[in-house]
Amino acid sequence: MTDHPLFDTVCLIGIGLIGSSLARVIRREGLARHITACARSDTTLDKVMELKLADAVSKDPGEAVRDADLVVVSTPISTNGAIAEAIGPYLKPGAIVTDVGSVKQAVIAAIRPHIPEGVHFVPGHPLAGTEKSGPEAGFATLFENRWCVLTPEPGTDPDAVARVADLWRRAGSNIETMDADHHDRVLAITSHLPHLIAYTIVGTVFDLETSTQQEVIKYSATGFRDFTRIAASDPVMWRDVFMNNREAVLEMLGRFTEDLSRLQRAIRWGEADVLEELFTRTRDVRRGIVEAGQA
Ligand code: NAP
Repeated sequence: MTDHPLFDTVCLIGIGLIGSSLARVIRREGLARHITACARSDTTLDKVMELKLADAVSKDPGEAVRDADLVVVSTPISTNGAIAEAIGPYLKPGAIVTDVGSVKQAVIAAIRPHIPEGVHFVPGHPLAGTEKSGPEAGFATLFENRWCVLTPEPGTDPDAVARVADLWRRAGSNIETMDADHHDRVLAITSHLPHLIAYTIVGTVFDLETSTQQEVIKYSATGFRDFTRIAASDPVMWRDVFMNNREAVLEMLGRFTEDLSRLQRAIRWGEADVLEELFTRTRDVRRGIVEAGQA
């Protein structure tokens, strides 16, 4: 807790898993004097007040941002353009707008045109999450020891970038800055493709005849269970990710299907050494992740 908040008023547009986790961090660390939250439904806003995650709530994004020094857009990616258009005229000069979207180029293209002169835009993406949604799903330690990637465009005010970085640092994250297109390629392989594979494999089980389906559920601890957790992630959020990071996902998917075909061939032709060599290399990747504290 600090006596010197980083911001006077923070406005969280969208207060689900990510927005509410950030609200909890801001409260815990005393990073703002005042928090305003905006969502679509009364149910969410009532819950936000009950959990004391904000001091004021509104369904109107324009009204919500009026006094904000920092605006954090934490809604599904497909809503970002309309939200930016709605808040643009009400942003205070000198205010900072940031976001948490899992794709960066498309989000920048949607938000940037609506950011007025004199307002700073610092796109961001905390690489942290769970398969749960809504304000009750959030928790203050979500971002601890995770990366937060910032993708400011060239010429962005360095002070604004530093203040957003400070916020995430106080949430316990490590900060990395990179170009938006690089972010989208890296995330396509580390996050988007694994989700696509999980959705596919769980879908494949769904299409099996009932007796086999029941056995898959009974014996799921043998591998399938981990896929079901990933495939339980929010359908709208993930629909938006694939619709907004098409090129990078299709490129990684192309590589993946080639590699899968190679394994298919190795199994067909009894090439045991091909399998063993790959499985040995992949085990090393896991060791590397554990050693980096990201397991
Ligand atoms: P979530 O739990 O489903 O919460 C979404 C929030 O956005 C809710 O408060 C919802 O309000 C609000 N909302 C939706 N449409 C809106 C609109 N048109 N106007 C105002 N508010 C609106 O979602 P989340 O998991 O926090 O994800 C939010 C963002 O974080 C996404 O862009 C995602 O890419 C990014 N992200 C997610 C993860 C993850 O693992 N979940 C990780 C990193 C980044 P109502 O409840 O009233 O509908």
